[in-house]
Amino acid sequence: MNTTVLIVSLLAGFGSTLVLAFKIQEKLLEIKSAGVYSWGMIFSYSLVTAGALYASWFGVMEGYSLVAFFVGWFGALYTGLGTSLGLHRHDTHGGFKAHAAVLFLLSMGAWMGGMKKWTWVPDHKLHHAKEDTILDPHSPYLFNKNGDGWGLLWSHIGWMLVDRPQLEKLKKTDTSKVPFIKTEQYLFVPCLLLGFLVPFAFLGQEGLWISFLRMFYMIHVTFNINSSGHRFGRIVYEKSKSRNGTWFGAFLTMVGERYHANHHADQQSAFLGWRWHDIDTGKWLLMVLEWFGLAWDVKRPRYSNKLPPPTPSDVPLAA
Ligand SMILES: [Zn+2]
Ligand SMILES: [Zn+2]
Repeated sequence: MNTTVLIVSLLAGFGSTLVLAFKIQEKLLEIKSAGVYSWGMIFSYSLVTAGALYASWFGVMEGYSLVAFFVGWFGALYTGLGTSLGLHRHDTHGGFKAHAAVLFLLSMGAWMGGMKKWTWVPDHKLHHAKEDTILDPHSPYLFNKNGDGWGLLWSHIGWMLVDRPQLEKLKKTDTSKVPFIKTEQYLFVPCLLLGFLVPFAFLGQEGLWISFLRMFYMIHVTFNINSSGHRFGRIVYEKSKSRNGTWFGAFLTMVGERYHANHHADQQSAFLGWRWHDIDTGKWLLMVLEWFGLAWDVKRPRYSNKLPPPTPSDVPLAA
């Protein structure tokens, strides 16, 4: 391990995150909405960023083997599906029902990817209920009604580094029925650590560093739905600012979440890509699970696979 590069990566990771958090707090003060620093998130995100920086240097100097690349890619897909199918489509929106073993594996994927049901589900419900208003936990239009760079940063990562305590009382979601939510407090950290330790045990250093890249990549893919998914792309119905991305965005996202305007238009649908060729691995996995009898009551899109999409009058506003 190169100590100099490690120290530079740590300084860059922690330094850039702290500066960003301070700047976000300044922006919040400008709109008279002082935030509270989330030191746990600031620490975790700094560490992942520092790890990803070192991992990039390691990749340039040593290269990653095909096996390591596959482990990283599979880990990204698994953690992404855990979040998208587990926390999002099942736990938050009830888009399908599934065998407990499937739900447990999806929960493990989400935990391995650093996503917690405990906060994820109430935050996301509030996002739908107050979409792109001042009460949305992560709207890119918070500082400017037309959207700006600070708003984009806020919606992407800022809202997790600096909390707005005034939103807490709005998060009244009953999470008691969310599967494995009680188990989460015991299994979240072990799953998170296993995501790094298992590749390290089998592949050594490159297993560890590819896991940092996997984590960095997939959290930004997820954050990107909150930022770009409400700023860039094609609007599906006029009452929402959410957008569908390009096929390339969907390809990079892998799990189907880049069809974010589709999702806001039809929140219960377990399929996010409505057309057969839309890249939505979550939908494809659900179809396989359904075929094997491991998932059922899978809610199809209300608008079938046909575009053009619904007119605004067809679509109820988010509940
Ligand atoms: Zn949603
Ligand atoms: Zn959204």
